[in-house]
Amino acid sequence: LSSRWIWRGFAPAFLVVPALLTTACTSLTQGGSVRIRAVATVTQVSALTRAVGGDRIQLTALLKSTDDPHAYEPHPSDVTALAQAKLIVKSGAGLDKWIDKPITAAAPNATVVDASASARLRSSATEGQDPHWWYDVDNARSASDAIANALAGVDPANAASYRASASELKRRLHDADRQIHALVDPIPAAQRLFVANHDAFNYFLARYQITLVGDIIPSTDSLAAVRPADTAKLINDVRQKRVKAIFTETTLQSGLASQIATATGVKVFDGKLYGDAIGDPGTDGATLEGALVHNGRLMAAAFTS
Ligand SMILES: [Zn+2]
Repeated sequence: LSSRWIWRGFAPAFLVVPALLTTACTSLTQGGSVRIRAVATVTQVSALTRAVGGDRIQLTALLKSTDDPHAYEPHPSDVTALAQAKLIVKSGAGLDKWIDKPITAAAPNATVVDASASARLRSSATEGQDPHWWYDVDNARSASDAIANALAGVDPANAASYRASASELKRRLHDADRQIHALVDPIPAAQRLFVANHDAFNYFLARYQITLVGDIIPSTDSLAAVRPADTAKLINDVRQKRVKAIFTETTLQSGLASQIATATGVKVFDGKLYGDAIGDPGTDGATLEGALVHNGRLMAAAFTS
C-alpha cells in the first residue's frame, strides 16, 4: 500500500474535513492567546519557522529527519494540517514541488511563503539549480526575515515578537558561520577535498572554499540512477587527488560509498553529514545552525585526518 495510493484514494474525503476542523481546533499559548497554525515542509525550513514562530505558533513539520525530500509524498494527515494552516512555508527551488497541488486543493486561502524566493540560488555541480540553498548562511538569514514578515502579516499583533526572534536566529546563524570559518580556514585549500553522497553541498562548499571532487550520486536528486562509468571516474579522481575521506548523509544508504572506499583504500568518514535533512527536535542537529556546525566539524576533521 503506497502513500501515493492513499493520497489518490482518500484525498476527496480529506478536502471536506478542513471546513469542520478550522473552527473547532484552536490552541492557546501560555499567555492565553491563540496560536497560529503553521505548516513547513522540509526539516531545514521547519527549523527556521520554529525558531521565528516560537510558542506563538503551532507548527506541523511535514518531513522528519529520516525523510528524503526528493521522494516525499504527502500523507492524508499532512493535507489535514495544510487545511488548518494560516501560514505554509515551503522550501521552493523545485525541492518540495509535491506540496503545490495539496496546497491548491486544501489550503487555497493560506499565506504561502516560498522561502527560496529571497535566496541567492547557485548552479549545481551536476544539472540545473541546486535547491539545497539553506546551507549558505546568508540565504538562511534572508529566509528568516521572509518567514518573520509572513508571520507578522497573518498575526500583526505579534509582529514585533516575530521580528525579534528572527534577529536572534540571524545572530545564531552568523555565529555558526564564524565557528565553521574558524575550523576550516586554517586548513590548506589543497586539503579541502570533498566527496559527497549526492550533489547537495554546493552552497556550503562555495562559502568555505572547499573543492568538490565528485558526488557518489552525481545529481541534486538523491534518487537518481548511478552509471558504472560515473563511479569508475570518481574512483579514479579520489585516487589521483588523494582525497582523505568520503562522506555519507543521514538520509542515505552508504552501500555505494563503501564500495568506492574499498576500491580506493579511502575510508568512509565516521559520522554522517546533514544533507537532505537535519535532526529532529531534541537532537544536536535540530536547528539549522547546529546542523551547519556539525557538518563543518566533520569536514574539518576529515580534511586533517
Ligand atoms: Zn538533495
